[in-house]
Amino acid sequence: MKEQWENLDLLREPLLDWYAAHRRILPWREQPSPYRTWVSEIMLQQTRVTAVIPYFERFMAELPDVYALSAVSEDRLFKLWEGLGYYSRARNLHRAAKMIVSEFGGELPPTVEALRKLPGIGDYTASAIASINFAAAEPAVDGNLLRVAARLVGCGDDITDSKVKKRFRDIMSISIDRGQPGQWNQAMMDLGATVCLPNGAPLCAECPGRSFCVAYREQLTAVLPVRAEKRKRRAEERTVFVLQRNGEIALHQRPDSGLLAKLMEFPNVLGNLDEGAARLQLAQWGLDVRDLSPCGTARHTFTHIEWQMKGYVAEVEGSCADLRWIGRKDLDSLAIPTAFRVFTEIARNCLV
Ligand code: SF4
Repeated sequence: MKEQWENLDLLREPLLDWYAAHRRILPWREQPSPYRTWVSEIMLQQTRVTAVIPYFERFMAELPDVYALSAVSEDRLFKLWEGLGYYSRARNLHRAAKMIVSEFGGELPPTVEALRKLPGIGDYTASAIASINFAAAEPAVDGNLLRVAARLVGCGDDITDSKVKKRFRDIMSISIDRGQPGQWNQAMMDLGATVCLPNGAPLCAECPGRSFCVAYREQLTAVLPVRAEKRKRRAEERTVFVLQRNGEIALHQRPDSGLLAKLMEFPNVLGNLDEGAARLQLAQWGLDVRDLSPCGTARHTFTHIEWQMKGYVAEVEGSCADLRWIGRKDLDSLAIPTAFRVFTEIARNCLV
């Protein structure tokens, strides 16, 4: 298979025509601004478009500009983010908003270099913001774009390799439409999301690049793009406690760094404890157990790890310095990670 990089140039015009007719109507595109593009792109990392739309609208209704975002409390921000997961994204948005207010007069900077210096903004997001809002000719290269480009030019190299990504980025910096770079990036995003679909199932009949696409011509859509196999996720067993005391429920604050940093969680320990070991664990925390029973299991998948959780609901007495006891109102207003969704529901029922 001979790579045909010129296909990226050939795609430019038909791609923009196709986009004019078939673009997705998305709330952040309707009244575009650097702030709206930024927030939407951060929300879209690891999350599907349809899931993001209601979050984005709720977020914009309450935090319509960078000043509102910089001034909101972390608790409220996490509550608005609850369900989207990957809370470090929200934390970085908050830190970046404060920097934009203090160092850039409340305006996002217009260049990729300056945007890249803000917390949570990488090459892809910086290029999306700069091209869509400031007409910078910067390709926003993510897995979607790489998939389309690798098929179109017939590239069999591993697209997860950083050198290969850089080569694609350099070439796309030339192939991008210099007059409408934001449109070109959004058109590529839409083509990848709606036509050149992953897992060997592209809808080539609807594609503006069909007449010259190498993967289509040589029937290689099932094998391109090539990706090195992902590292397997590590499974981690945990035992989670829904503890009740005098009509309140216990929560624990996670450490300042690492997975789900600083968020509230149900007290939990590593391992799959049987009832005897669970009672012993509670005694080690200084709690007297009045009643304890299993309350089901749950799984939650993070990027590199899967929690396999087993729960106990227990009526206890005594105190433990690490626990915070809360009532129904606090349970509803605090952002508790989705990983604990099953246990949050159980706690809610306990507090009725
Ligand atoms: S013709 Fe098919 S494989 Fe080629 S870019 Fe279009 S959708 Fe993707």
